[in-house]
Amino acid sequence: MSNYALGAVADDLSGACDLAAGLTEAGLATVVLLGLPDEAPRADAAVVAQKTRTAPVAVAVSDSADAVRWLLDAGSDWIYQKYCSTFDSTADGNIGRVADAMAAVIEEHSPSGCFLSSVGTPATPAVGRTQYQGYLFVGDRLLSESSMRDHPLTPMRDSDLVRVLGDQTDVPVGLVPWPSVRMGTEDLVTAIDVAAGHGARHVLVDAITDDDLDRIAAALVDGERRRTCLISGAAGLGTALGRLLAARLDERSAEPALPAVVGDRRLIVAGSASERTREQEAAFSGLVLRLDPRDLVAGGDAVGVLLGTLGEALEASADPVLVTATTDPADVRAAQTELGAERAAALLETALGTVAARAVDTLGVTRILVAGGETSGAVARALGLRSLHVASVVGPGLAWMVSDDTRHPIGVLFKPGNFGNADLYTRAWESEP
Ligand code: ADP
Repeated sequence: MSNYALGAVADDLSGACDLAAGLTEAGLATVVLLGLPDEAPRADAAVVAQKTRTAPVAVAVSDSADAVRWLLDAGSDWIYQKYCSTFDSTADGNIGRVADAMAAVIEEHSPSGCFLSSVGTPATPAVGRTQYQGYLFVGDRLLSESSMRDHPLTPMRDSDLVRVLGDQTDVPVGLVPWPSVRMGTEDLVTAIDVAAGHGARHVLVDAITDDDLDRIAAALVDGERRRTCLISGAAGLGTALGRLLAARLDERSAEPALPAVVGDRRLIVAGSASERTREQEAAFSGLVLRLDPRDLVAGGDAVGVLLGTLGEALEASADPVLVTATTDPADVRAAQTELGAERAAALLETALGTVAARAVDTLGVTRILVAGGETSGAVARALGLRSLHVASVVGPGLAWMVSDDTRHPIGVLFKPGNFGNADLYTRAWESEP
């Protein structure tokens, strides 16, 4: 028997938690892994969380291939490449290059080979991401007209995903447009085969509703096995796959008993500069402590001073405290011009990771909400997290996770920048573990 009905590789941690929340709601007991352990934990689905979205291509490719090998060795029926629902990529990749590498590993393990390297879509209607004629929409805007055009690390200025993915791979990219999806599973299988017949190796499939995603999942899983090496997409298609695979499980893995999280000290760490995170900060009425990357090179001990203030605040009241680098696009650009974009990000990520680790180790914080995908990865590394289990789902794409890899068990909510209602910083605690 396979260990996992689904083995996924996510290109960042908050995205891994986003998918884990969907898979859990779909009925699969899901573990998020922050490394590749010697022993595969028991679960219905495993999501390996990496930090490959903005990594150099060679690193992203080799980390992702290693994760696929581990998932296949552990026994995974299907392998899923989880990327962001806004298709976040750098100028060099990495979605296409990673898909090529993941598919190549699967093909090596697949005796009859695959017609196609990957099939999928970032569409995730639950959070307003839809794909039509290959164009990605965020709510009622094209991706390139959404706030993603100003992302500090992965500015998305082209909404034509066939073109974007085509620039990230040497093999042809095809499209299955929405009319073929709407027709039903059989027509969809035929349309995917037609795209392959025209030479496509990666196929993007339009989807506007969850029903579309269910049809795509059925077409891929029910079609001739290994027609497609890899299924790629965001939480939407991953969750649709989860619904289908959960319905076919002979027996569901028992959810592990989660360790109790005690204490009343709560921290929000924000490194996202996204529009939604800025709204959440504006709606937060508690104590706000700011970090500017320029302060981190100015000499002095900006992090130490901030930790002193944070300690006093946590001592004085049980209200959550926000430590934030969130700011508007013009201010991000000013910092990037002065320091370089990569250096500014690295400085902030290290500082925010240090704040989170010290808050847990020495200030008694046991619940942390982290805003930002890259920031989440940095905080998890600083905390030394190795695996996470879903404790409660807060909303679309958002789940409190529990870990006992730290000095005392902690609850963590890793939030992709653009996710969550405006009042998240105040209300997330209502469903804390
Ligand atoms: P999101 O989920 O919104 O994409 P991320 O944490 O993934 O958020 O990415 C935001 C990146 O922008 C992080 O690397 C962060 O360090 C960087 N950043 C945030 N604020 C600033 C700033 N004021 N100046 C420069 N870079 C910033």
